[in-house]
Amino acid sequence: MARGRRPRVLSEMGLAQRNIGRDGRAQRHRRRLAIAAIVAVFVAPLLVLAVWMQHVVGARTGIPGYVVRVALPDGAMPIGLPPIEGPADASRPLVVIDAGHGGHDPGASGAGGEREKRLTLALALAVRDALIADGRVRVALTRSDDRFLVLQERAGIARRLHADLFLSIHADAVESGAGDASGATLYTLSDKGSDAIADAVAVRENRVDTVNGVGLGGADNAVSQFLVDLSQQRMRAASQAFATLIRREGQGRIRFRDVPVQQAAFVVLKSLDVPSVLLEAGYVSSPDDVENMRSRPWRDGFGRAVAHAIEIDLADQAAGTSATAGL
Ligand SMILES: [Zn+2]
Repeated sequence: MARGRRPRVLSEMGLAQRNIGRDGRAQRHRRRLAIAAIVAVFVAPLLVLAVWMQHVVGARTGIPGYVVRVALPDGAMPIGLPPIEGPADASRPLVVIDAGHGGHDPGASGAGGEREKRLTLALALAVRDALIADGRVRVALTRSDDRFLVLQERAGIARRLHADLFLSIHADAVESGAGDASGATLYTLSDKGSDAIADAVAVRENRVDTVNGVGLGGADNAVSQFLVDLSQQRMRAASQAFATLIRREGQGRIRFRDVPVQQAAFVVLKSLDVPSVLLEAGYVSSPDDVENMRSRPWRDGFGRAVAHAIEIDLADQAAGTSATAGL
């Protein structure tokens, strides 16, 4: 009997065990679900909170959660060089044309609100266009839009491009009541101006490099050294020759002042070791000069005349017949 029951009991027990086993698995499953739910409801937000704390609290305590690197402009880094236009042949001579002023420095202003920086750019572009049309020499502009460059950067562009000639174009102004000057004047570098007027022009043109009383032009000691150097004496003679050529080629197109070629201490010309001239194309304070400089045909004639002078000077340099020959 026992034998007869046992299997039944056993089988019942076995059934019970199976039932208990099924219940246990269901329970464990429910437990796992509960844990997953707890994780989902409580732990996940805590993780998010922890990440947030890492960034925000970390930032407050000076321990950054991440690092942002910002490339700051290096003060000693030279500005980018402008494109060289004209013939692709790199053996052709190169002239750098510098349109005076630009950006936050408008230069001189006329009674009609005309700004020197606009006129100088238009005149520089006219010279550039005439040179490209002739196709004999290469040309680069220190600026071809309305941007600010300190005077040393302008000369620096010419030096770094290994220019053979440098021309800086300006348009002067006289204070109202100080006469009605008009016409163009050519200036070459000198430590002392030809006269008080030439010195005053240099002071006006050099003023741009002083920002809040801090001089940006610098290099005065180097300039003093430069001025006693024999080769630089010859460079000054070559600059005089270039100025004389502009005067000659400009005849009939550009009206010059009574003393058309003068000397003064222009910062923009100081650190250059190439023949260089600063051309005051006219007076922004003169209505006649402004009318000329604003006129496209006049500027085209100006551009052609100055371009011819540049081409002749560079041809003389190449032939070894200019004042720079043998340098
Ligand atoms: Zn100027």
